[in-house]
Amino acid sequence: MAETLLEIHDLHAGAADREILKGIDLTIQKGEVHVILGPNGSGKSTLMNVIMGHPGYQVTEGSLTFEGKDITALKTTARQAITGKRERIFGFRKELKEMMEDLQIDPSYSERYLNVGFSGGEKKRNEILQLLMLRPKLALLDETDSGLDVDAVQIVSRGVSKFQNGDNACLIITHNARILDKLKVDRVHVLMQGRIVEEGGPELVEQINRDGFGHIKETTV
Ligand code: ADP
Ligand code: MG
Repeated sequence: MAETLLEIHDLHAGAADREILKGIDLTIQKGEVHVILGPNGSGKSTLMNVIMGHPGYQVTEGSLTFEGKDITALKTTARQAITGKRERIFGFRKELKEMMEDLQIDPSYSERYLNVGFSGGEKKRNEILQLLMLRPKLALLDETDSGLDVDAVQIVSRGVSKFQNGDNACLIITHNARILDKLKVDRVHVLMQGRIVEEGGPELVEQINRDGFGHIKETTV
């Protein structure tokens, strides 16, 4: 039976006294992949920041519940203890080596400073490596501004498939239908001006890539 991982209810949040999210409802069950789409400035990254408990954003109304616990008022560190970066010490090195081989990461990379002097593809591999080693219960991926070369797309979609199990979930911001080719997407949410204005299945990604957001603007906002 599906179990709820994250439940967002009537979330209003903003930064610097400005309301950016204007009443978001979103429920993510364990085992699911959700996609957020929306024009620039619609609040996609803000939503992820608020889920992470980023101190630069304030929740002014509504609630966030993670595995049944109210995390609305928690600061980032306390929230991470609940939303999980469960570091497993045993077998870490062995697993890291295997994972790096699998992602075709040069072993010398692990000795470099994180994300310094890396190319776009290398950064992507690093992000996915961190995802697979830290195994948060909820993976939040903001792919809107990332380099969308074929290599990066492959790394993200393969990485997320590998990450996925029945106990965790993934929330991805992307317009790239190719990232979604190899992933089973459960639900797509369209965000505009701080509100979810349309929801549907994976076909919504194709539809929006084809028709844009114009038709939604006319009918709902
Ligand atoms: P998206 O990721 O959908 O492009 P954002 O969530 O980054 O949109 O931003 C939504 C709106 O909120 C934008 O108008 C942006 O300028 C504003 N905004 C985001 N973060 C902040 C912040 N820390 N302080 C002030 N305004 C912000
Ligand atoms: Mg953004």
